[in-house]
Amino acid sequence: MDIIKAPRGVRDVLPDESWKWAYVVETARKVADAFGYDEVHLPIFEHTELFSRGIGDSTDVVEKEMYTFKDRSGRSLTLRPELTASMVRCYLEHGMSKRVQPVKLWSVGPMFRYERPQKGRYRQFWQLDVEALGSGAPEVDLEIVTFAVYLFGTLGLSNLEVVVNSVGCPACRPVYREALKEYVGSNYDELCKTCQNRFERNPLRILDCKNEHCREIMKESPGMVGYLCDECSEHFQKVKEGMSLLGISYKEDKNLVRGLDYYTKTAFEVLSGELGAQNAVCGGGRYDNLAEAIGGPHVPGVGFAAGIERIVLTMEGQGCDFGRKPGIDVFVAIADDSARKAGLKLLYDIRRDKVSADMDYSGKSLSSQLKMASNKKAKLACILGSAEIQKGVVTVKDLASGLQEEVHQNSLMNHIKQYIVR
Ligand code: AMP
Repeated sequence: MDIIKAPRGVRDVLPDESWKWAYVVETARKVADAFGYDEVHLPIFEHTELFSRGIGDSTDVVEKEMYTFKDRSGRSLTLRPELTASMVRCYLEHGMSKRVQPVKLWSVGPMFRYERPQKGRYRQFWQLDVEALGSGAPEVDLEIVTFAVYLFGTLGLSNLEVVVNSVGCPACRPVYREALKEYVGSNYDELCKTCQNRFERNPLRILDCKNEHCREIMKESPGMVGYLCDECSEHFQKVKEGMSLLGISYKEDKNLVRGLDYYTKTAFEVLSGELGAQNAVCGGGRYDNLAEAIGGPHVPGVGFAAGIERIVLTMEGQGCDFGRKPGIDVFVAIADDSARKAGLKLLYDIRRDKVSADMDYSGKSLSSQLKMASNKKAKLACILGSAEIQKGVVTVKDLASGLQEEVHQNSLMNHIKQYIVR
């Protein structure tokens, strides 16, 4: 019988990588604290309508990429492909409009999309999601963009490009939509099949097409910015002024869209050259009409999502520091069998003091135990035999230099702690 393997497009995050993820998430937690965002844990699956209405029926995610299934009572459920719609649902369901606005939340966890797997694109991937709900102020858009930029800066990433655009609002977008259709209409025959389909349903999504030829055609298309109403234009201006004030360099890209009516005003991405075709480390923007789309009242919101795999890949590509890899500080080694019980006791005394420690349970020789200690990258070995027990000491060996000394059991923990902070 063949060994059962993991499904295509999903991956195990093994110990040589998981500590890097932990570093990214811990850093995000610190930035979230600094910006006043609280963590939430949201369900992995939701009612399918939340996503079909909250992300939009005519998006690739909803049309082609959702993992949707019926549960045993026949309800249609979907593994979450993103978090924004769930965040808005959570806000509405828990009456958060009564709290001080904006309500600022963040979360991290796995998302699921049936996409063609490639470097940086998986069917289960992790996103860090940051959302501010209940305020339409441009300062909040600025806060969201800055959160992303500070996070990536704190992680040591460089050469990232912040790209921004405004997608307007239902007041100004229809005029733009017509102008765009007029432009696209004269190139209709040259568009890919998908874009020809988009032409009537949602022409803005043609701007987003990854097909080289479509992109070439859309280079010369009119931009939304020229059609913004006064309110959207002023909002965009304030966000850009804010970025300049805070020293965030950015590029405007007239073709950056979130192609649905619920998305309004600011759209942005942070790009990295390190990632090849899947070059977006994070994407976000404002969605003032999303709460209404899922049956709620008007709740403006803005946020971003960043892929953990892509952050880690970019950091590795740039040789960034992930902090110290968690490892064993102390290895307890037994010199002869009579010390086994005392050794076991010592192991737990060290662990109780929150110092990481390990030992061998298989009865290896002392030299094999010391090899095992080096293998585990321990800093110190605490060697215990009948001679040490008689004298009330432990032989402490520095595994880097090979130097060793006898330390009295009473002062052992102090000795270890002084040593491992060095
Ligand atoms: P989106 O929700 O599509 O705007 O994506 C936001 C971020 O999530 C992207 O910038 C990526 O970092 C990450 N991401 C999206 N889709 C995938 C995927 N299939 N595999 C890995 N990361 C992804």
